[in-house]
Amino acid sequence: MRLILLGPPGAGKGTQAARLVQKHGIPQLSTGDMLRAAVAAGTPIGLKAKAVMESGGLVSDEIVVGIIADRISQPDAENGFILDGFPRTVKQAEALDVMLAEKGQKLDAAIELTVDAGKLVDRIVNRANEAKAAGQPVRKDDDPEVFKSRLAAYERDTAAVTPFYRGHGLLKEVDGMAPIDAVTAALDAVLKAVKAA
Ligand code: AMP
Repeated sequence: MRLILLGPPGAGKGTQAARLVQKHGIPQLSTGDMLRAAVAAGTPIGLKAKAVMESGGLVSDEIVVGIIADRISQPDAENGFILDGFPRTVKQAEALDVMLAEKGQKLDAAIELTVDAGKLVDRIVNRANEAKAAGQPVRKDDDPEVFKSRLAAYERDTAAVTPFYRGHGLLKEVDGMAPIDAVTAALDAVLKAVKAA
């Protein structure tokens, strides 16, 4: 199965993708995780991405499309994957279509976790506090001010991705404000329907 999880930062894409990985045995491909790894390793891509990530902006389409093109060509992604945090612009979505068409592959669904934008800042403050309490590192971009920039980038550049997939008949919506287990159950139901179609 080839899936995309859509929704603003803090919508729960990472949490739900990790559960889908367990259940379906396909990898979660998170451009955010890949970019953070590149920054930590100090690679040329990491050096280019670091400042823009810390400010809450978007890394260039060219960089992230290159990263995803490499990643979906790996053997573990052959039978499917869950994209988390990509595509974030219509250009990235179009580039993905071309990449998949070249491989004779297609997407099964783009699932949007719908949220109440006003509640996301609280959610992200909680995520940072929970990480701190658990002795885990807190993401620099989970600072409330940077988070607001990430939300603004979402509104400006990424909100148009949802209508793109609706237009392709691939969009499914799931209430991302429900409790985590309820969101997982709703995702399961959507995927069952997609498989049966
Ligand atoms: P995330 O973990 O998905 O919230 O991503 C963290 C940061 O990485 C974002 O705020 C962006 O700066 C960058 N990033 C991740 N995915 C993309 C993407 N598809 N396009 C552009 N920038 C991205």
